[in-house]
Amino acid sequence: MLRTAYGRGMIQALPSPEAVLDRDCEQRSASGYLDAVQARPSHRVMIFQRGKTLIRGQEILFFESAAAAAKLSADVLTIYLGKTLPGHHQHLPAGTDIVLKVLADDADPSAWASEGTSWAGYREAAALLSGPDAAIFIQAQAVANWHQSHRFCPRCGSATELLWAGWMRRCTLDASEHFPRTDPAVIVAIVGADERILLANNFAWEPHRYSTVAGFVEAGESAEQAARREIFEEVGVHLHSTHYIGSQAWPFPRSLMLGFIAHTDDVDAVPDNTEVREARWFGRAELQAAVLSGEAIISQRLSIARELIERWYGGPIRDRGEDVAGSAVAGGLS
Ligand SMILES: [Zn+2]
Repeated sequence: MLRTAYGRGMIQALPSPEAVLDRDCEQRSASGYLDAVQARPSHRVMIFQRGKTLIRGQEILFFESAAAAAKLSADVLTIYLGKTLPGHHQHLPAGTDIVLKVLADDADPSAWASEGTSWAGYREAAALLSGPDAAIFIQAQAVANWHQSHRFCPRCGSATELLWAGWMRRCTLDASEHFPRTDPAVIVAIVGADERILLANNFAWEPHRYSTVAGFVEAGESAEQAARREIFEEVGVHLHSTHYIGSQAWPFPRSLMLGFIAHTDDVDAVPDNTEVREARWFGRAELQAAVLSGEAIISQRLSIARELIERWYGGPIRDRGEDVAGSAVAGGLS
């Protein structure tokens, strides 16, 4: 059956289910663990400021501990990200501890960049970085964002202090404990009875860009319920089935995207005219032709939206200007 075929894993774009770093969850909560890590000369330091880190080529620039220490002030936000797992990082030896240093927004970053390096946010860096470094970037972004917005206790407004090597904050007055937050969102590829896919163009995008439909899960709602509600709200079709495909952390500022392929028998799509400007059905050959001609722009590789669209398509979709070699033949699902 079609709907099981979507889960076969023929496309590799989703982040690997295997972690790059051992987050060392049991040890990191021990008192003094962060100091112990930073006392090891072998640890490496990742510098982060305003959503950017330093990259060189396809790599994050990880600083040797002594080189970083010479440039850092003592009160910089410090978080332990974990240690590299064997075989999961191409440049750092297994067991390398990675410590994230988040510079204050107004700190002068000029001491850090050197020839051949540049500051990059995730959107600029994603297409350049290797998979493991992209995963480390996402982790750093997520935890840095949380600290940025949780300096004060949500119960009483008192200052919170940093514990668990940066993975917990505790209120200095009422001792309530707070952990990094993630907001679930659903992202859905909608497939019609005739096997065409329904893609949407949002008002926030350029006119020819089409993608899957996404929205946040509300309090007390399951992901499947959110998928049905959001799709009806935004493009006016009823889903009769939803199939979970996989997830992608998207910490901008703190989402976890839950990817679904879903089916509808409805034929008439009605954009909500608030978020969605246009909802358009594409057959497989039609979508590939539209992408090659420039009539349609779809999400870039390594995004979960692209993964869902390619799961439906049955293989990689060639981007405009990409040569035929290396492309796969569609139709694996029929
Ligand atoms: Zn409090």
